[in-house]
Amino acid sequence: MEKEKHFPSRKPSPNPHHETSALSFRCSRDRIMIYDFLHLCNTYDKNIYSRGYFKETPCPACPAVGRFKMYGSYMRYAIYFKGKKLVRRQMDIKRIICASCKTTHAVMPGDIIPYKALTLFVFIYILALVFLDKVPVLKVAEEWDFSFQFIYSVIVTFRKHANNIRQYVRETSPGDVPAVFDECRVLGFVKGPCAEFQLGYIKMNRRPCFMCRFLNRVGAPPVGLHAPMGAST
Ligand SMILES: [Zn+2]
Repeated sequence: MEKEKHFPSRKPSPNPHHETSALSFRCSRDRIMIYDFLHLCNTYDKNIYSRGYFKETPCPACPAVGRFKMYGSYMRYAIYFKGKKLVRRQMDIKRIICASCKTTHAVMPGDIIPYKALTLFVFIYILALVFLDKVPVLKVAEEWDFSFQFIYSVIVTFRKHANNIRQYVRETSPGDVPAVFDECRVLGFVKGPCAEFQLGYIKMNRRPCFMCRFLNRVGAPPVGLHAPMGAST
């Protein structure tokens, strides 16, 4: 299945120089994902993974490092930008298992939001339309074939995390903090680098800002942060 829509004017800019690191975090007691920021939905392919890829990856569930075996895959939907088009596509997500603790882990593209089809760039694109371009919610919903309730849920999620993002920016780029740090300006900090922002946020050992709502809601930050073999960090 694939749904394609024409992309009108703004194009999120997936930066090819996004940092080459991956991380894992516990999103519940029995589901631990590994995020691979080397790949977004556009480039993700389960066939790129082999044991060697995870040679230096610590298991998020136990002290073992690089003791993973390939463990099949499963299908899930993702909505993401492919060039100028929004596509909804079934993706084959790689699964690996730790030989030490027998915990399985899904290896996710860096822009996936756990348990949601919508990916990070689409999420931010919707917010940019509403907050920066001032497009009415109903028009965004109609144009992109989303329900207006869904658009509002995206806005609510963003507002819930706007303070966390403000704090992150203050800690990482204190010189850039504007005097008036309203939601539009907060979004301005996020929308450009997108995945880079997400990765930087995670590196502060925090849950992914737009993702935590779908995870534990409360509780510990993500566990583990690692770079796959050959990565710079
Ligand atoms: Zn393990």
